[in-house]
Amino acid sequence: MSNEEIAQMFLDIADFLEIENVQWEPRAYRKAALTISSLPVDIKQIYEEGKLMDLEGIGSSISKSIEEYIKTGRMSKYDSLSKKYPLDLRAFRKIQGMGPKRAYALYKKLGIRSINDLKSALESGKIRKLEGFGEKSEMQLKHNLESFMKVKEERKMLGYVIDYFEALAREMRKNGPFFSVEIAGSTRRMKETVGDLDILATSDKPQKGMEFFTGMKQVKEIIVKGDTKTSVKLDIGINCDLRIVENGSFGAAMQYFTGNKDHNVKLRKIAISKGLKLNEYGLFKGSTSIAGATEEKVYETLGLKWIEPELRENTGEIEAARKGTLPKIVKYEEILGDLHVHTKDSDGANSLEEMVAAAEGFGHKFIAITNHSKGLRIANGLDEKRFSVFNNKIDKLNEKSNIKILKGVELEILKDGSVDLSAGVLKNMDFVIGAMHQNTNMPRKELTNRLIRAIESGLINTVAHPTGRKIGERAPFDLDYESIFEACKKNDVLLEIDGFPERSDLPFDMVKLAKVYGIRFSLGSDAHRDMQLRFIRMAGAIARRGWLEKRDVVNTMDYKDIQRLKR
Ligand SMILES: [Zn+2]
Ligand SMILES: [Zn+2]
Repeated sequence: MSNEEIAQMFLDIADFLEIENVQWEPRAYRKAALTISSLPVDIKQIYEEGKLMDLEGIGSSISKSIEEYIKTGRMSKYDSLSKKYPLDLRAFRKIQGMGPKRAYALYKKLGIRSINDLKSALESGKIRKLEGFGEKSEMQLKHNLESFMKVKEERKMLGYVIDYFEALAREMRKNGPFFSVEIAGSTRRMKETVGDLDILATSDKPQKGMEFFTGMKQVKEIIVKGDTKTSVKLDIGINCDLRIVENGSFGAAMQYFTGNKDHNVKLRKIAISKGLKLNEYGLFKGSTSIAGATEEKVYETLGLKWIEPELRENTGEIEAARKGTLPKIVKYEEILGDLHVHTKDSDGANSLEEMVAAAEGFGHKFIAITNHSKGLRIANGLDEKRFSVFNNKIDKLNEKSNIKILKGVELEILKDGSVDLSAGVLKNMDFVIGAMHQNTNMPRKELTNRLIRAIESGLINTVAHPTGRKIGERAPFDLDYESIFEACKKNDVLLEIDGFPERSDLPFDMVKLAKVYGIRFSLGSDAHRDMQLRFIRMAGAIARRGWLEKRDVVNTMDYKDIQRLKR
């Protein structure tokens, strides 16, 4: 069973219905698809627990389709629609300007069903002659098709797939004929998006190891199978390479396949300058390997301290490792709680009690519930009155809860830089996040002044998702970031690192820059449902990639010290 397959079928259904001019339903199917593709567990499990309808955006008719698919392997609604519209909508969806209606128009007029059909129609100049298309839109489409072809393999957001990756590696360790199994590549560096998965293993039965790997239920297709390297396509639509290496090369291989490329190029240069040669098999003097079993030894022999994978970007970490001035970056286990969480009282899916229970299960010592305020109507933001009722509920729950619940809010920073709740209400809050969600297309100077006014107001603790970017969706705000950083420093306002995968905001390079200003940071999952609490780890990853130490991150403090933060 693959969540991804069901999600794709729902996206197809949404497109089919859009072609048929059906209102609303396409949106419902797209929402359901998003929910399903971001589940950390097999949907079959949720079905068996009878909890399908608890999922966001899954109503009775959609849950029936899921049930039908789980039971029969078919979905009748999908089958009948896909027979009627035999187009490769999955590919067309990824091309800008090829919405379902346009794709259908091209199918009806020119019989275009696939990317190849589209390509040859564009080459022969047929499209420009069609009514409603013209030369300009043909050129645009050509350009968009080219950029689609360039992205060979779609990158996935690590926050959604890391648990799956780790489960795969765990299963190999537990049941496979391997001595060790480790994940390398950009996953090990905790980059926010990944193109594929690299796994390294050692074994005295490599052939059996490869058999085991290709027989795993997650493997959908074998691309190449060999004794030392096997490539497969996983059922979540991502390629995975397994390499089985010698014990004596394991560290060198981990180093090599972790990257990044620039970091490795620099290391190889250092090796050459010492009369050595570094490759995936080891560090060599002539033909003799002098290091390779462990990464530590490889770095040490090059005259460097071992470097945390998250830092391997060739942005100064190698020089720091040589001088012994590497930062002691914050550890994942030092992050004691989550400072950005929603409940269904605004736009979340779970109740306060459910989120608190999930956070406790997660090992958190505290969470701040930061529902939206009244200015964000589409998120059912709370006004002063609802907040006071809700905060009373938190006080009561705190009396019996094992973890501390901080009273918070994700406040709207309005057009003029004022905020949408009164200072009186905010005084009773433990942690106040300020955010710009609306009217953010202002000229740079105005937008900067708006945010600075909020920072100077003395009403907020931190700036939520400061750049507002959404990966693959929305560009960062046009802000004078250096002025923002200066204002934060001057007013003791934190910057947030929002770990929600699409946001990943601040991005790590800006974190590193902001740290130079002496700013501290708050980390939040921005969870809107219990399972999304796991995204705090992605916020931690960005903190680490941004060279932050324990003292730079307020989530490492006791909740009492967080309550005492100046505002
Ligand atoms: Zn927000
Ligand atoms: Zn939020």
